[in-house]
Amino acid sequence: MKRLLPQIKKLRVKICEIARRMYTNGFISSTDGNISAKITEDLFLCTPSNKCKGEIKPEEILLVNKMGEKVVGDGVVSSEFFTHLSAYEERSDVSAVIHAHPPFSVVVSLVEISLTEPVLPELIMTLGKVPTTDYATPGTSEGAKVIKPWVKNHNAIILKSHGVLTLGKDLEQAYIFLERVEHSAKIIFLAHLIKKPRRLNITQIKKLGKLGL
Ligand SMILES: [Zn+2]
Repeated sequence: MKRLLPQIKKLRVKICEIARRMYTNGFISSTDGNISAKITEDLFLCTPSNKCKGEIKPEEILLVNKMGEKVVGDGVVSSEFFTHLSAYEERSDVSAVIHAHPPFSVVVSLVEISLTEPVLPELIMTLGKVPTTDYATPGTSEGAKVIKPWVKNHNAIILKSHGVLTLGKDLEQAYIFLERVEHSAKIIFLAHLIKKPRRLNITQIKKLGKLGL
């Protein structure tokens, strides 16, 4: 454990920085959202529940094992951490998972506008299709189940009527994906208010370098 302390310290600071950016940008409110980072196969950092993530301090970030049990820290492990664990189990390349409730991403899910339609080139190039899961009761083990079909091949997933889950090789990447999903959801939603957005054609999609859409 001792040799991991410098890494843990650094990650705790970064988690707080990301949490503040999420809160400031309105991707979460109140005590919403959770952030985790993988340290080893059996050790993770995770934000505690019932804390405003905009004001969270490094020492409040919990150390948790792969059973979802707290190893070090005073708070309560986020009830959504099992959804994060499910993502880590499926993806050995992932070292950070973020969950938030960004308004436009939730809105498109509520009114069933799909983010899998090829309408925005920037979204296709970076995240490809952003799928929406089946509905799961927030804070329960259902979350871990509904993401299973999608986490293998997607770094950003809309949780139906609930929020967004992003996976990254590090915390910064997971946050950038979250920001991109929300910005794209906003644009696509606003477009839908006027008319159905134009889909890119196959040639245009192929030029973006993402096939199989
Ligand atoms: Zn949530």
